[in-house]
Amino acid sequence: MSARFSRRRLLGAGLGVGAGMAIGTLKGSPADATGPAGGSGSTVAITGTTVIDPAGDKPLRDVTVVVRGDRIAAVGTAREVHVPADAEVVDGRGKFVIPGLTDSHVHGSGQEQIDLPLFLANGVTTVRDMNGQAFLYQWRDRIAAGTLRGPRYTVASSILDGSPALLAGAGAPYVEVANAQQARAAVRAAVAGGADFIKVYVRLSPEAYYAIADESRRLGVAFVGHTPDAIPLAEASAAGQRSFEHLFTGWFDTSSAETEIRRRLATIRSGDFNSYFNRTHPLEVLAARTFDPARARKVFRGLAADGSHQVPTLVQHRVFDLPESTTSDSDRLRYLPAATRTSWQDQLEQVYLAGRTAKDAAEHRELFRARLHWLGAAHRAGVPILAGTDTGTPYIYPGFSLHDELRNLVAAGFTRMQALRAATRTPARFLGLRDAGTVRRNAIADLVVLDADPLADIRNTQRVHAVVVRGELISAERREDMLSDVEAAAASGTLAARVAGCACTPVLQAA
Ligand SMILES: [Zn+2]
Ligand SMILES: [Zn+2]
Repeated sequence: MSARFSRRRLLGAGLGVGAGMAIGTLKGSPADATGPAGGSGSTVAITGTTVIDPAGDKPLRDVTVVVRGDRIAAVGTAREVHVPADAEVVDGRGKFVIPGLTDSHVHGSGQEQIDLPLFLANGVTTVRDMNGQAFLYQWRDRIAAGTLRGPRYTVASSILDGSPALLAGAGAPYVEVANAQQARAAVRAAVAGGADFIKVYVRLSPEAYYAIADESRRLGVAFVGHTPDAIPLAEASAAGQRSFEHLFTGWFDTSSAETEIRRRLATIRSGDFNSYFNRTHPLEVLAARTFDPARARKVFRGLAADGSHQVPTLVQHRVFDLPESTTSDSDRLRYLPAATRTSWQDQLEQVYLAGRTAKDAAEHRELFRARLHWLGAAHRAGVPILAGTDTGTPYIYPGFSLHDELRNLVAAGFTRMQALRAATRTPARFLGLRDAGTVRRNAIADLVVLDADPLADIRNTQRVHAVVVRGELISAERREDMLSDVEAAAASGTLAARVAGCACTPVLQAA
């Protein structure tokens, strides 16, 4: 089916979906006032602090934030706000309060003792997992029910790919759909199985893709994911795809060589996951070198009008483009089981770097600069951007890496406030969480207390002092304990490494 929808219908559908992100998400949404929130019933006060609210404009200085249950009860000066006698008090003097952060692109490792505390300790209070599996739906539901401590989860369907699927043999779960009928059935099955949204992938045919778009719209569920090779970014956006992951195909649309690129791309219809990236590499280089500002303006205007979001996962591109950069955060490796560390090292050496010539390496450095440039141009043109990382792929760390992504956004030309927005206000809106991603009365009480000003230096988001997750205070002391516990769990040797749910980059084939 190749029916296209009118822009009016699409916008209507988009807004409807944006307001709810549909179905399962509502289970854990702040609209559920009876919701769990470990902190329900408790009171927290952060006194004499500076509030940086990306939903507002200027920082509020010398204010007190009071949290009651899972909501912010008050934000105001000492004269305006009474600190309840039973409150757990955080001395906020010299500190900075921002909303809890959202990582809009993660893949669970299956190790709840690792992923969940690492997210929280880093101030990540909401995540969007991009390849649904049974354990993730369980995490989501247990966290929402208050029986497991972790960030709010919203979870994709299994990846829906065309035939032959790119992920065949890559170890990550997927569902292959060859035609419109299978596509519609897969969407219905995913929703019935608990998916919060539908994830599309690289090899979908136009027939299957537009059937997914139509069936998703019919069921009121969002569809998001990679840009299929057979569909230009602008067309996928106009068809209602709500988010586009990574930054490796969007620039085909903005190239003056688009016709040649699409002709060559159409010949890459088979082959495994790893060879795909080698074969598209020259096309990426061509696209980067033929960036056409006039075409880009048109494409970006369309994306902005559609309200579709880009999730560039620059941290993940950085690992692939600049593998030498991975050594700079080796102090984080202690939070990961030995099996994960070994698997990452193997993938880096045997897949990412294998056969890479000096010319390839230089091209990858050029590509990374070009990705920053492309994203900066899209951002300036009003295209909404979400901060996401691709945890589950090598050298992307739950929690920690989101802070690196904020630095990348600033490197691409975002102001520090705009970078914060991409991890707070923008994802809250995207997920239909109207009362999240902001620090104001009645908002959901997801907060991060920082030791230094993120508007002075975006790296200061890494200086996490304490975290409030749905009203529950994770004090500085408790946060240190959480990190020690993760380190101990990682060292215990009892955690089995799992195959990441993603395969967004080349992966080692199972032996
Ligand atoms: Zn991914
Ligand atoms: Zn991906």
